[in-house]
Amino acid sequence: MAPPGSKKDETYFFEDGDVVLIIENVLFKVHVAFLKHYSEIFEHMAKLPQGNDKEGSENKPIHLEQHIAANFRLFCRVMYHGSSICKYALEPKDDNIKYLVSIARDTIMYGLQEMHNFILLAMRMHAPAHGKLITECDADTMCDIAFVLDHMSEVGTAKEIAEIKQYRREVSNVFADRLEQRKMMESVTRRPEYVLKVSNNDVLYTSVLYAFTVCRSDNERSAIFDDPKLAQTMRTKVKLLPRMKECKTWLEKQWPNVLDHSRAQGTILGLGYCRPNHDQSCGVKLRKYFEDEQLSAMAKELNKSDIMVIYNDMASAANRMCGECFGRFRVLLDVPVTTIRETLKHILVKDLDSPLPDSIKW
Ligand SMILES: [Zn+2]
Repeated sequence: MAPPGSKKDETYFFEDGDVVLIIENVLFKVHVAFLKHYSEIFEHMAKLPQGNDKEGSENKPIHLEQHIAANFRLFCRVMYHGSSICKYALEPKDDNIKYLVSIARDTIMYGLQEMHNFILLAMRMHAPAHGKLITECDADTMCDIAFVLDHMSEVGTAKEIAEIKQYRREVSNVFADRLEQRKMMESVTRRPEYVLKVSNNDVLYTSVLYAFTVCRSDNERSAIFDDPKLAQTMRTKVKLLPRMKECKTWLEKQWPNVLDHSRAQGTILGLGYCRPNHDQSCGVKLRKYFEDEQLSAMAKELNKSDIMVIYNDMASAANRMCGECFGRFRVLLDVPVTTIRETLKHILVKDLDSPLPDSIKW
């Protein structure tokens, strides 16, 4: 009888394995020779005689305390499916993640989907502890991650696929937010290859094109397609350039709506969207931001197609509120931001062969 409350790992419980380990409440039945080969931790583990009540048997698994089942599962995956990236995957340092991302790009080329998915899972697992990789990493790494995530496959268990998809959404949102910050946008738009790095029809591609649309002149936009690597995409050039222009026009037309909408949000907060007893501590900080002078000053200074800067600024202003008020405000902000992104996506990339709709209403 296995210990009560324990369960066999779905993948790494091999009937012909020669040792059973329990980590948290998960049983792993694996091969001692592999363990010893891949990790010093297991160097002294002897192959155990199999019997009903011997240590290392199913009835009496070896308890690995202070280990995490999900991490051990990753380790198994490396043992059984490829070893060279083991140490990088298991040590979540920024440099290692960068290395993993570069390997993940290569594995796409060689069709090593299993390894590719393994890396995505490793990245997913380490993302929370290394959120700064996503929020602070350089533009190149960010774009590489975007590229790698764009090539996810449907290989793996349903749970793994769901986790990777979730991770992909998180990264996409952060990436889009970061792209809309002027500095990042400008650095990205000096590099035509970013257009090539991400595939079309998704939020990342739209974000990159948005950056080009907002930051660069007509000539500069046209120049991105003169890059030799883009030579084979002339059809895209013919279709995309007018759409980028259309996008710019649409964004500029939205400017009064954005200002009205922003003021309305100030009103919503004034009516108590902020927690009532936080009106003075939190609400007042944000209401200052919504005062007409501030928005009018912004309206004068800004590039009118760069609408997202207004929303990014609002988010920064709201950042000074308490967690709960900030959370409620973020939910409010998501509505217009999503509307804008979806409209841009429609204008820029959705079905390049279909004509543009006569008008897209916000
Ligand atoms: Zn508050």
